[in-house]
Amino acid sequence: MILKDRTIIITGASSGIGEATAKKLSEHGASVVLMARSEDKLKDLASSITKAGGKALVASGDVTKRKDFENVVAKTVEHFGKVDGLINNAGLMPLSYVKKLKTDEWDKMVDVNIKGVLNGVSSVLPELIKNNGGDIINISSMAAHRYFPGGAVYCATKAAVKMFSEGLRQELAPKHNINVTSIEPGAVDTNLVSTITDEDIKEELQEMMEMTTLESEDIANAIYYALTQPKRVNINDIYIVPSEQK
Ligand code: NDP
Repeated sequence: MILKDRTIIITGASSGIGEATAKKLSEHGASVVLMARSEDKLKDLASSITKAGGKALVASGDVTKRKDFENVVAKTVEHFGKVDGLINNAGLMPLSYVKKLKTDEWDKMVDVNIKGVLNGVSSVLPELIKNNGGDIINISSMAAHRYFPGGAVYCATKAAVKMFSEGLRQELAPKHNINVTSIEPGAVDTNLVSTITDEDIKEELQEMMEMTTLESEDIANAIYYALTQPKRVNINDIYIVPSEQK
């Protein structure tokens, strides 16, 4: 129960990596606050966590709306008394080739993958500073390290998250006791590809997904590792890919 005194907000908790992380952290004692837009899925998850003896709060919201995020933080403080950490995990990956000009999808990726992270940080930071410390974990991607087909905009958003994390760490860790980690997964078996509308990309991706991918639980384990180090240790980056991925 190493996390028993920690209250952690997890965005994108309604599926995939966020859901697995909520389960993992609650199993180790954390009080988890579940944020996403699909309230019904969050309620189901909260009830399974509670049945297993854990503590979970449903706080639905859209990460692109700063007000929603501020409400989630206020609800967390009202319910659990404080916030100790934020996992910025919500994200979208509607891959497409640039020449197709799917500009609405570009905008959505910038809004969720980048602005969503900024909204999370601006909403939670006053609480973390007030509490004299905490943790921020941002889910970037292998896409921050290299381009893959149809990923020009997606890769750019994830590179932004990785670089923002490093800036945050340098500004917050030494002075405010707030450790910051960027997690950069390769292919994980989740619903992330469901937002792709470019048929050419869908075919190419199908081939790629024939390898053995990571499971959401593998990323939850990496998050758990970063959160459970002694306070003097800041895990800056975790770059974690399937053994079979080139
Ligand atoms: P999922 O599609 O399973 O999960 C995405 C989550 O983001 C959902 O819970 C969704 O909930 C939430 N979300 C999307 N838009 C919003 C929004 N506007 N406000 C609040 N929540 C939102 O995919 P993953 O679990 O794979 O994705 C999690 C993160 O991991 C993403 O940032 C992704 O980029 C990253 N990642 C994933 C990889 C993979 O191969 N799967 C590899 C590398 C990184 P809802 O729709 O209910 O709002």
